[in-house]
Amino acid sequence: MSDYILVLDEGTTSTRAMLFASDGVLIDSAQEELTQHYPQAGWVEHDAGEIWEKTLKCALALIPKAGGAAMIAGIGITNQRETVVAWDKETGEPLTRAIVWQDRRTAPFCAELRAGGHEEAVQRRTGLLLDPYFSGTKMRWMLDNVPEVRAAADAGTLAFGTVESWLVYKLTAGKSHITDASNASRTLLMGLADDGFDEGLCELLGVPISALPQVVDMSGSLAETDRSVLDAAIPIAGLAGDQQSATIGQACLAPGETKATYGTGAFVLTNQGENIPLSTNRMLGTVLMQLDGKRTYAIEGSVFVAGSLVQWLRDSLGIVEVASETEKLARSIPDSGGVTIVPALSGLGAPHWRADARGVITGLSFASGKPQLARAALEAMAHQTYDLADAFAADGAPWQTLRIDGGMAGNDWMAQDLADMLDVTVERPSFIETTALGAAMLAAVGVGLYPDLASAAAKMRGELTSFEPSMSEDVREERLARWRKALEAV
Ligand code: ADP
Repeated sequence: MSDYILVLDEGTTSTRAMLFASDGVLIDSAQEELTQHYPQAGWVEHDAGEIWEKTLKCALALIPKAGGAAMIAGIGITNQRETVVAWDKETGEPLTRAIVWQDRRTAPFCAELRAGGHEEAVQRRTGLLLDPYFSGTKMRWMLDNVPEVRAAADAGTLAFGTVESWLVYKLTAGKSHITDASNASRTLLMGLADDGFDEGLCELLGVPISALPQVVDMSGSLAETDRSVLDAAIPIAGLAGDQQSATIGQACLAPGETKATYGTGAFVLTNQGENIPLSTNRMLGTVLMQLDGKRTYAIEGSVFVAGSLVQWLRDSLGIVEVASETEKLARSIPDSGGVTIVPALSGLGAPHWRADARGVITGLSFASGKPQLARAALEAMAHQTYDLADAFAADGAPWQTLRIDGGMAGNDWMAQDLADMLDVTVERPSFIETTALGAAMLAAVGVGLYPDLASAAAKMRGELTSFEPSMSEDVREERLARWRKALEAV
């Protein structure tokens, strides 16, 4: 029986392929690092050709493990969101390097749009803020600055797409130019209530709508691989941006259910059901799912610095040799001795949105050493998450429990501290690769292995570990007071 699911997980620093059995067991995986190009301060680019070649290489490495392409029931793709690829529909080749989500080069254009008084209307339509993070202004930059992109637009052969769109185009040998609704909702070019890209928004940003892909569901018969590529016509049956995919992989399928991913940065999403979110606290509104044409939405908050703070302790300060040592150090003392870190090393994200902020460490004394700094770094994760929880609650989306994942979620001390500071139960799945699992679930439902995501989750998700809050109110208040004072210093 062909009941394997092949997931292509195209991240920022690497591309992976993962082969799942229909019950969610991971059979094998393959991974390739991606070259990061930094042509100027604040610019980040990827070579779209390299993304494709490495994705294909990983896929081809896994197909024999399934016993051949014919044994794969469907493919699920999940990707770094907002990154833009421009290619020529005639040659199928990229016209320039992809502009990555982290890239800040369109800050002046965003400021211009804000000065023009467009932010409120754009936020109401798209759920997003006028920030260089999102795809639309990156497309405009390419049109204005790369002659090949402008020429292709004039000739009617230009194709724009986010990374999943590019991969589908290549997997289908140019037959499908599609994007899923979760990725489309990160472009600034689609209203949250719209079926597809919007003429008015495209006009505002100066992007020709004819270059954009068709917006499709996230599960179902979305496309089919060309035989020349993978040696079989395999259904592409699941598509989702990475954070939406992780939310699905964490089975946050009902309104109010919330996940937080702690990797380099931290991303929190709360399922909002069919209600279109409109934050008054500078959170984002985004499409969580589109299934059979029906949308579910989420509120999203992003913190720029999470695991990267631990990396900094390791690589720049030499306080630990490996990230997991922070746990032992934090446990070796009863408290941080008053040391507080605000990890604004690359600015502050939600709910502050201060790109110009920089980090501070407060409360240092001669008693402060490695353990205090390590503990303060881990404490900062709960402090930052607390601010998000506050903003989500103010937007009418309080958290009942918090489901965590990402590399840093493996730290038991941090997981317990989150439960303590947020005063909610924190749950962690034993299978931490929730991003890939979400895409596998979408594809499994898409090819009919399960009737719906809830049944797929029941079968494919592993065991959970729970962390229950046990901190006294006094300690929590003292921690928050310290944090707020340090934030003021920033
Ligand atoms: P990404 O997907 O963003 O590349 P990962 O989810 O792989 O990130 O998480 C890696 C990050 O988590 C690194 O920044 C690392 O410093 C941090 N990290 C990993 N394990 C631990 C741990 N046990 N304690 C604290 N931080 C950790």
